[in-house]
Amino acid sequence: MNLIFLGPPGAGKGTQAKALQERFGFRQISTGDILRANVRQGTPLGVEAKGYMDDGKLVPDDLIIRMMDAELEQGGNVILDGFPRTVPQAQALDDLLGRKHRSAVAVLFDVDQDVLIDRLTGRWTHLPSGRVYHERYAPPKVAGIDDVTGEPLVQRDDDKETTIRKRLAEYEQLTTPLIGYYDNPADPRLVKVDALAPIDAVTKQLVDMIQNDGGGRASA
Ligand code: ADP
Ligand code: ADP
Repeated sequence: MNLIFLGPPGAGKGTQAKALQERFGFRQISTGDILRANVRQGTPLGVEAKGYMDDGKLVPDDLIIRMMDAELEQGGNVILDGFPRTVPQAQALDDLLGRKHRSAVAVLFDVDQDVLIDRLTGRWTHLPSGRVYHERYAPPKVAGIDDVTGEPLVQRDDDKETTIRKRLAEYEQLTTPLIGYYDNPADPRLVKVDALAPIDAVTKQLVDMIQNDGGGRASA
């Protein structure tokens, strides 16, 4: 089974991808983590993507699709965390998966807008691994330090309120159409989770869903 995590910034996609990755052996593919690694390494992709990311805008589809084409070359079940985010990206993903005779279920992280600013302004990230913490909801053992490696955590530059508002506007405009794309009555492949629940309770909903094979919606 392949999973597509759909939901606004701060909904908990990365947190849950990490929890399920260990438990079920998924490979998490986080477009945000890959892009940030490219920015840090100064690759041509990173140089091109940086301005969009700093400004809270989506990176152009052609760059993202090319990047994901390469990522999906490897086999194994994946959690797509942060991709697709536009209808053209979803169409490109369907082409890619179809060529490989694979399928995916979209999981919508259902959440109220008003919790997102609080979640994102309190988020602390371990950049090399993409592990995230929250100063109140999921604190590290030692403030500012990653539990696993002992390395420093950072607050992402785009996790400040003005940029968060721009990212939420991009989500509303460009990503919410994907709900209808995947919730198509002729071929339903959308499952919802209550992402307002505490972290462990969200994990439990996802575990139940996976153990039921996405309600029969994912076979490959
Ligand atoms: P996304 O990948 O969707 O942007 P994250 O997984 O990075 O979201 O979570 C955003 C922030 O909210 C992080 O600081 C994380 O620790 C925290 N968080 C994630 N899920 C929950 C939850 N269910 N309840 C409270 N805080 C959460
Ligand atoms: P969050 O986890 O808070 O939702 P991400 O780490 O997924 O944020 O994304 C950070 C930034 O990376 C986005 O604001 C956007 O600029 C870029 N990005 C990530 N994924 C995509 C994508 N699929 N399409 C276009 N831009 C993307």
